[in-house]
Amino acid sequence: ATFADLGLAEVLCEACATLKFTKPTEIQRRSIPLALQGKDVIGLAETGSGKTAAFALPVLHDLLATKGKKEFFALVLAPTRELAFQIRQTFNALGSPIGLKSAVLVGGIDMTTQAIALAKKPHVLIATPGRLVDHLENTKGFHLKALRYLIMDEADRMLNMDYEKELDKILAVIPRERRTFLFSATMTSKVGKLQRASLRDPVKVEV
Ligand code: AMP
Repeated sequence: ATFADLGLAEVLCEACATLKFTKPTEIQRRSIPLALQGKDVIGLAETGSGKTAAFALPVLHDLLATKGKKEFFALVLAPTRELAFQIRQTFNALGSPIGLKSAVLVGGIDMTTQAIALAKKPHVLIATPGRLVDHLENTKGFHLKALRYLIMDEADRMLNMDYEKELDKILAVIPRERRTFLFSATMTSKVGKLQRASLRDPVKVEV
């Protein structure tokens, strides 16, 4: 299969070619068509599988097709700063041809600098749960009431790091009417609980 066979917009297939993604990896080949059909997806995949592009490409495809408001279109939650920046790099590399604006919200960077980035109304936010909650509670005017996509990456690690309380707070303030992708290396009982609390009729893809 090619990226075009999966149903992705031509401009995104070209972006993949530019990055030397010659053909989809297994997680991409199996999860992207489901995501484009509007399904919630649980992806059980390790780092190195191409999981980041597996969730970024369908979000970018829908962003491109959307006519209305695109600010705070998608939120990606990640366990660590390093992973958040890596995810942003993939989104920016694939999304620059469509004018993607993104921002990262992680600890260790001052709140004001990040509040300025939020004021520019990025399409995609990549955040660690703790710092995102901090902004939801303290940054005037910031909310996620128009969010269309929630992506939880390395969910098992986020739960091992005790981000449960923050995840609950985030889930309480984003629209119920949204699409959700959960990626995890392992399916633990905590991941199962998070899945039941946050995904709607999901399809599981295990690679
Ligand atoms: P990830 O599992 O998302 O951390 O991705 C692992 C690495 O694979 C990253 O360096 C990606 O840029 C690269 N990658 C992702 N998808 C593809 C693909 N279809 N073909 C070649 N490399 C890819």
